[in-house]
Amino acid sequence: MMHNVHDSIRDLFSRHVVPSYGRFDLVFDHGKGVEVFDVSGRRYLDMGGGIAVNCLGHAHPAITEALVEQSRKLVHVSNLYYTAEQGRLAAALTGAIGTGKVFFCNSGAEANEGLFKTARKFGHDQGRYEILTAFNSFHGRTLGGIAATGQDKVKKGFEPIMPGFRHIPFNDLNAAREAVSPSTVAILVEGIQGEGGLTPATAEYLLGLRALCDEKQMLLLMDGVQCGHYRTGRFQSFQRILENHSGAQGFLPDGIAMAKSLGGGFPIGAFWLRAPIADLLGAGSHGTTYGGSPLACAVALGILEVIEKEKLADHARQIGGRILSELTSLARQHPEVLASVRGLGLMTGFELVESHPAFTASPRAASLQVCDLFHQAGLLTAPAGSKVIRLLPPLNLRPAEADEALAIIKKVVQSLDGRA
Ligand SMILES: *Cc1c(COP(=O)(O)O)cnc(C)c1O
Repeated sequence: MMHNVHDSIRDLFSRHVVPSYGRFDLVFDHGKGVEVFDVSGRRYLDMGGGIAVNCLGHAHPAITEALVEQSRKLVHVSNLYYTAEQGRLAAALTGAIGTGKVFFCNSGAEANEGLFKTARKFGHDQGRYEILTAFNSFHGRTLGGIAATGQDKVKKGFEPIMPGFRHIPFNDLNAAREAVSPSTVAILVEGIQGEGGLTPATAEYLLGLRALCDEKQMLLLMDGVQCGHYRTGRFQSFQRILENHSGAQGFLPDGIAMAKSLGGGFPIGAFWLRAPIADLLGAGSHGTTYGGSPLACAVALGILEVIEKEKLADHARQIGGRILSELTSLARQHPEVLASVRGLGLMTGFELVESHPAFTASPRAASLQVCDLFHQAGLLTAPAGSKVIRLLPPLNLRPAEADEALAIIKKVVQSLDGRA
């Protein structure tokens, strides 16, 4: 007999759901804004944002309205036909990036797959196919995605790994130049490495990769799945990284993958291709049944409208800057617990000192131990690897909510520092 709702749901999972995720022992029921409530009614401040997905928080009326109104009108017709919503969303995304075209899919991994296929098509006639990606990168869990991802843990047990990818150290321009072979056709990087632990690309690196790709006639591809969609204060993170940087005028990658915040929780992915590369994918060359459905596109358009009307890009920059400076001063007070603080806009976080006695007592990763403590205090965050904690809250996070989250973080860090 089950004691309560929590246990009975856990039981359904252990009996019927593939155990591929390491889940925390929390069962959620509903949310509003940055707040989310578990099945016993306990409130949590959701600073993990569903891993950078819930850009307007939970149960935002603009998303509900778009879902309700569009589903009354037209949910799906397939890409055998045209719809206004897909065309309008493509125009909005190209408007935020630059001259080019957009393909719609349903996830981040699929968006990257589209970029891989574009690169292969681009190099096909010269026999070039190899794509360079960075160590510590993350590009999704498909066979192509794990081949591209520069972390052994996602590949283990799934060999043979799809050929055509090689990894290079991130932010190391010389290493990129030295790695280029006659088969190399593209370089793919994240503007800010997310799963790999919150490492922004430097402006010099991005500009250098652009120049290298131009020189060798290779495509420069960027994975903006996590760091994109105004999280850094600009639509794409490279726009933020390169702003006010001399020599960055007119900088554009050749392809950009998007997902996560694009749909605010409704599954949608997309990739943008620069003109004229966009026209390499001619009729019949690529497709997906659900891609760019009027329902998904209506939701994404509704989100963009709110971001623009409420000036959430500037808001993310300001409130993110405040969070970063508060965390930085916390790290200065507790160097035994916090090794460093990094990020941009509302993609910030901190690295823990794994060797601190408070962590070494347990075999559980330091990042997970800290998440557990945050949960006890009513705060959700997103771990990245064994020692980094990310804050990826909604773009409309209020100052008082940021303060509440920071107060919990301070309290937990202080208590850890006291433990020896
Ligand atoms: C989440 C993520 C992906 C994969 O997206 P899915 O929607 O899970 O397939 C790819 N790249 C980056 C940078 C991500 O953060």
